[in-house]
Amino acid sequence: MILHDPRKAAPYMEKRRVETIRRADWASYDALMVTNLKNVRYLTGFSGTAGVVALTQSEAWLITDFRYTTQASEQVIGVKVEEAKDLLAAMGAIASRMGMKRIGFEADHVTVSNLQEMEKKMEGAQLVPTSAVVEAARLVKDEAEMEAMDRLVDLLEESMGYARSLMRPGALERDIAIELETAMRKRGADGSAFEMIVASGARGALPHGVASAKAVEEGEAVTLDWGARGWGYHSDNTRTFLQRGVSDKIKEIYKVTLEANEAAIEAVRPGVSLAQVDHVARSLITRAGYGEYFGHGTGHGVGLDIHEAPKVSSASQEEARPGMVFTIEPGIYLPGQGGVRIEDMIFVTEKGCRVMSQRIDKSMESMMLD
Ligand code: ZN
Ligand code: ZN
Repeated sequence: MILHDPRKAAPYMEKRRVETIRRADWASYDALMVTNLKNVRYLTGFSGTAGVVALTQSEAWLITDFRYTTQASEQVIGVKVEEAKDLLAAMGAIASRMGMKRIGFEADHVTVSNLQEMEKKMEGAQLVPTSAVVEAARLVKDEAEMEAMDRLVDLLEESMGYARSLMRPGALERDIAIELETAMRKRGADGSAFEMIVASGARGALPHGVASAKAVEEGEAVTLDWGARGWGYHSDNTRTFLQRGVSDKIKEIYKVTLEANEAAIEAVRPGVSLAQVDHVARSLITRAGYGEYFGHGTGHGVGLDIHEAPKVSSASQEEARPGMVFTIEPGIYLPGQGGVRIEDMIFVTEKGCRVMSQRIDKSMESMMLD
């Protein structure tokens, strides 16, 4: 695993810094101060909870405190590591030492009181708001990131048979979630990517119905939305299992949801607008008469954050580009009756896309429990 070995990961981190420097607006600031910890990790490999990265057009620093100096010296290559009691004051000191007067800060991740603190501790510097500079680089995944996320998807695939065996009538949703989280961890995940959704019967109509104390019953559909976390990354997948005796209505919405999932995936290729991908799924569900029961976007990016850019929705401004990773997850939710969602993670290639979760079955026959 590349991300497991700082020496192997170093060239990727270096490329990410080069790409971020290329995207930064150097006419507006002399240094970019990165305080979002996901972005700090992306640029340096540092996984601690106290770190600030300073980037100029030719240099990079990681400032951290004494708790992390050893960890930083092991994880971070090609970046100057400075230990400081006060990270922002240290940032200010570097700026004045280097003659940098204008400092870009990550406005999307800074609270009003953070900003006041920055102004106090970096007196003399002019703080310039920036937006999504590192996030723009993060949109396109590299080989190191794909290796980690492919592994995190495979781990779900390997646990799918076990998941199936847990869905029997009488089992509590939250017990199923506990068992599956343990199974993921035993296979090498750091934990769940998010609070697992196990939603059976009428609870399936709640798009975010986290596992409850309800027992699975015969004749119900059970939606499992789960993911694994590891090396800082995430996976995200949803399958809806169908108990013996499930209603024709649920079977019908399963069929429609699967068609929407497959048609949207089929539409993904470089250059296609993500609003169009959303439209493909949405129009299919609408034509079948369930448009009002599909109340969320078709998908979202996945990476260092479980939900990140790009959005796949009618409001999306983004086009698919090779290297992007996002989900396709249409769903139909019938209040009081139940719901179906089918979610796959997609990697955009030069010619079209690769379904990262393609080995996880989703045909209606394969989701029928006996
Ligand atoms: Zn999900
Ligand atoms: Zn998702």
